Amino acid sequence: MDNPKVIEKKAKVGKGLFAKAPIKKGELIASFDGKILGWNAPWNRYQLSHAIQFEKRKWRLSKGFADKINHSCEPNCGVKNLFDIVAMRNIKRGEELTWNYEMTEDNETGWSMRCHCGAKSCRKVITGYRNMPLAVRKKYKGYISQWLLDEYR
Ligand SMILES: [Zn+2]
Repeated sequence: MDNPKVIEKKAKVGKGLFAKAPIKKGELIASFDGKILGWNAPWNRYQLSHAIQFEKRKWRLSKGFADKINHSCEPNCGVKNLFDIVAMRNIKRGEELTWNYEMTEDNETGWSMRCHCGAKSCRKVITGYRNMPLAVRKKYKGYISQWLLDEYR
C-alpha cells in the first residue's frame, strides 16, 4: 500500500518521493508487492535497478511507488518485514524520502551504483550489505532486512 501522504516529483537527480505532510517514525511508506525474480530470470534494464532483494538470489518488484524511492547514505527510511519501506524517524513535509539500498542488497551479483546523494557520510559507490561498515550497520539497527542479518550472523 502506498502512503497517501507521499508524492512523486522532480528530485536532485531524476524523480523521487517526497512527504506532502508530516510522517511519523515507523509509518509505512510503500511495499514491494509485485513479481518475484530469481537469479536467472529474464531481467529488463529497469528491473535491474528497481528490485528489492529478500532472499539469497531472489528479488521482488513493486506494483506501486516503492521502487521510486531514491537511495541516500543518510536515509530517513529503512526496511521492515523484508518488503516494507518505513520511516526511520519523524519526517517533515517537503523532505525527500530515501533509504539505503545496502539494507537489502547482498551484492553477490557484483551490482553497484554511483551515489551522488550529497550527504557528508556519502560512500560514493553503493554495493551491498557485505561492504557496509559496522558503524553504519549499528546506526540502522532494526531497519536492515532480516534476510541479511540471518545470512551474515
Ligand atoms: Zn551517498
